[in-house]
Amino acid sequence: VLDILTIVEWYRALTAAAVILLLLGWESLTPAFAFFKERAAARIRHGLVNVILFVVNVLIVRFAFVALWLATAEWTIWHGFGIANWLGLADSVWHTVVVILLFDLWTYWWHRANHKIRFFWRFHRVHHSDIEMDVTTANRFHFGELLFSSVLRIPLIALFGAAIWEVAVYELVLFPVVQFHHANVALPGRLDRALRTVIVTPDMHKVHHSEIRRETDSNYTSMFSFWDRLFRSFLIRETTRDVDFGVAAPPEEDTQSLSTLLASPFRYRRDL
Ligand SMILES: [Zn+2]
Ligand SMILES: [Zn+2]
Repeated sequence: VLDILTIVEWYRALTAAAVILLLLGWESLTPAFAFFKERAAARIRHGLVNVILFVVNVLIVRFAFVALWLATAEWTIWHGFGIANWLGLADSVWHTVVVILLFDLWTYWWHRANHKIRFFWRFHRVHHSDIEMDVTTANRFHFGELLFSSVLRIPLIALFGAAIWEVAVYELVLFPVVQFHHANVALPGRLDRALRTVIVTPDMHKVHHSEIRRETDSNYTSMFSFWDRLFRSFLIRETTRDVDFGVAAPPEEDTQSLSTLLASPFRYRRDL
């Protein structure tokens, strides 16, 4: 018998594959930047580095954290613990709404801390070091960053009062938004503007991946754009057509090689 979590897992995997294929197709037809024009091999090499980092992270989550999150969520619901339950919202759709908003708010501040606290930035800069940002970049994270956020998620599930399926729903909604705003695509200006009243758009996130530090340190949110407006970190450029992606790096650092990326938080410590 298939339990509900297995069904959710399958549904997630299938929608993830569909979203990524759709965006890969879009990037091939009308890319915003011509990084890989007549460079198919380079595109594959680039994607492969990001996909390998992603697979490592998926395995860590699956084998080290899912059971811990599940146990915490069960304990939380059983004891009626956490903000969404203290608000008396059990069995209401507002319970899920509050949990999703709390997780998204947390994701905003966690991301901002990753930029402002040097120790965390060493890991997070792996995500920013991609000079050819496309949909695969959405999944380019050092496993160190993932370990920290996964551990922190344990007490947060309890604090927010989340059921495990609500955590899954948050990720289910978040995933396509994150893939989309990293994709090497450009929407008509008006459409991007309209969409970014609610969610993070490609134009918004291109600014976040700019090499210029003032721009890097803006647009931290992952799903709802209003957190950046609320906390005064919202920044938009007149055009994103001429953004240079990447981070400051010493000349000897090859920011596009897998082994260098994995070692970089432990090697490149100073002034980065
Ligand atoms: Zn960032
Ligand atoms: Zn990003």
